[in-house]
Amino acid sequence: MGDRSASSVTGHLEALFKKYDDVPREVVVKEDILREGIAPSRAALAHDPRHETYQLFSWDPSRPEEMEEQTAAISLPDILVLEGGQYSLRPVRVRPRIREKSAYALDVVNGGLAVCDRATSTPLVPVVPFPPEPECFSKAFDDGTLYREICGLECHIIAFRQCQYWGKQEECKFCDINENARVKMRLGQVKTLQPKKTDQVATVIEEYLVNQGIELTSHPYYRTGVRHVHLNGGTVTTSLQGAGEQEFYLNYVDAIKQRIGNRFPICVQTTPWTKEMEQMAYQRGVNVRMSNFEVWDSSLFKVICPGKSKYIGREEWIRRMLEQVDIFGEGNVCSGFVAGVEMGRPWGFKTVEEAVRSSTEGMEFFMSHGIVVRPISWCVEGLSDLGGQPLPPTDYFVQIDRNWFEIWLKYNLPPHAMFSGVGPGVNTYPNSGAMDMGLV
Ligand code: SF4
Repeated sequence: MGDRSASSVTGHLEALFKKYDDVPREVVVKEDILREGIAPSRAALAHDPRHETYQLFSWDPSRPEEMEEQTAAISLPDILVLEGGQYSLRPVRVRPRIREKSAYALDVVNGGLAVCDRATSTPLVPVVPFPPEPECFSKAFDDGTLYREICGLECHIIAFRQCQYWGKQEECKFCDINENARVKMRLGQVKTLQPKKTDQVATVIEEYLVNQGIELTSHPYYRTGVRHVHLNGGTVTTSLQGAGEQEFYLNYVDAIKQRIGNRFPICVQTTPWTKEMEQMAYQRGVNVRMSNFEVWDSSLFKVICPGKSKYIGREEWIRRMLEQVDIFGEGNVCSGFVAGVEMGRPWGFKTVEEAVRSSTEGMEFFMSHGIVVRPISWCVEGLSDLGGQPLPPTDYFVQIDRNWFEIWLKYNLPPHAMFSGVGPGVNTYPNSGAMDMGLV
């Protein structure tokens, strides 16, 4: 669990390629970059600056005050597409998680961006040039709200950027949603914490997805990307704008469906609801459900997800997710696992073997019931309760990805509806290498 910032990454990567010769190199490189984070140079930040659009969490191991440029956290796009380079990688999509001490640098090389070995300044893999920014992203509503504040590049809508699981006794320990909102407000990087207006959400989606979507998705940066709406936000335990959690989120679904009909699926990411409520959500037009389970082990679930444990409970959460499959169908129900957090200190497993065994048991359970697990390789966000903790070694992440793929094949599951497909060069999900698994 050491810091490799001072030594070259190439020897480390090549040892992993040899050890995991049944795993595509794209998976190994991706997991190592996700684990290590990336340190952008000033030149890289100035090269083709973009606004990060999906900022519900910071996704950065470094806190803003530790960054060389405080705006670094919001100046890169949500996703870097890496292709070619020293290891002839097929396109692989990675979320740039900023960590100033990372062994990987993002720098400008020969007029383009590249991920480099920081110790030797050797370019490892070029970054595919960013696509043109969608025209509508520069537009604003009369109240000053920018379109791009409403809808992210992958049609990610952050309806509510806080979580009513509040404080250390309730917030998930790995999650920095509330602190991230406070810090971004303080730095002026976010204008308001008020929930998005339903009519504005519908307007932006219509313009972005319907009017510009096909043109955008033909760009190599996206390949098969944006063909859905992903509605996300924090949990509502009491009420928000006079509505309970379900009604609050379904109000957006109503507005979107009324505007653009059924052409694009809508995924709603919230806590799992009772069977009757899920049936109602389906009838109101929800196509896909995502209720993240986070960590499989029952004692760790209580400690790491105290709010989920208190308000719903582990067994009830599982029961409701199994019911979701009967309502929405296989491939349309997904659960995120924060892969690696089960090694978080002081409660977690002490060895990679125990941690991999536990999470693999959880993946097997859910996938055997038709729920596609989505591993989210743990980003130790600097603003979260676990900020600064050491990460599991890359071995852990590679083994989880390999096991995920074996289980996914075993149950002959479809890819999750929100992501393109499974395979190196195909997967569009940036936070884990699991869906980049396939032929070496
Ligand atoms: S439920 Fe947990 S992971 Fe989700 S937003 Fe709230 S605190 Fe974060």
